[in-house]
Amino acid sequence: MKELADGVWHIQCLPGPHWAVNAYLAGDVLIDAGCRQSTGRILKQLEGHEVTAHALTHAHPDHQGASRDICEKFGIPFSCPEADIPAAEDPNVIRERQPDQFMAVFFWRIFHGPGHKVDKPIGEGDEVAGFEGLDVPGRSAGHVAFWRESDGVLVLGDVLANMDQLTLIPGLHEPKPYLTPDPEENRRSARKLAALEPKLVAFGHGAPLRDTKKFVDFVEALPS
Ligand SMILES: [Zn+2]
Repeated sequence: MKELADGVWHIQCLPGPHWAVNAYLAGDVLIDAGCRQSTGRILKQLEGHEVTAHALTHAHPDHQGASRDICEKFGIPFSCPEADIPAAEDPNVIRERQPDQFMAVFFWRIFHGPGHKVDKPIGEGDEVAGFEGLDVPGRSAGHVAFWRESDGVLVLGDVLANMDQLTLIPGLHEPKPYLTPDPEENRRSARKLAALEPKLVAFGHGAPLRDTKKFVDFVEALPS
């Protein structure tokens, strides 16, 4: 694993392009857990690290795929944004909440993992591994990002991506509308995050970005 910032490590969840599907270890908390195919790969990268809790930015198939297996393996509690709890506990709810589009069903089918009982909701202002939870819905009903003001580190999940999710070509993008129930709400969430002027942005998809201006300018250029 590569340490991106103090106590924040990147975990590669799928073979192939290094940053295609990301999870992070923040302190001793695993943030996101890739697809159901990711379990062994994540466990291997966590070897030698203490993991005491698992939290999701949002309950989508490429973030909750290995959640149950990893929580059971370590015997650790599972946290998730409050509005995403039904989806984290029952993956059928993920499919129901996604747009009724071929690609949404396709990704759900190939990637989703089993549901798992959520022990604790996460919401605005909640502390997770020294980060503060921020409500940034749109990509899912209850998406959260994790913000550490002391060094400007933002783990933003899928509010934006630094890679095209289909072509895997690097670059800032809004999430695909056919995989996003409320793109307008998501845009408002992106503006909330850009206002923080983060120094390092860690994405669910794509390489980390250390260019605050590029991030802020991209968000400012989004249609209102
Ligand atoms: Zn994702």
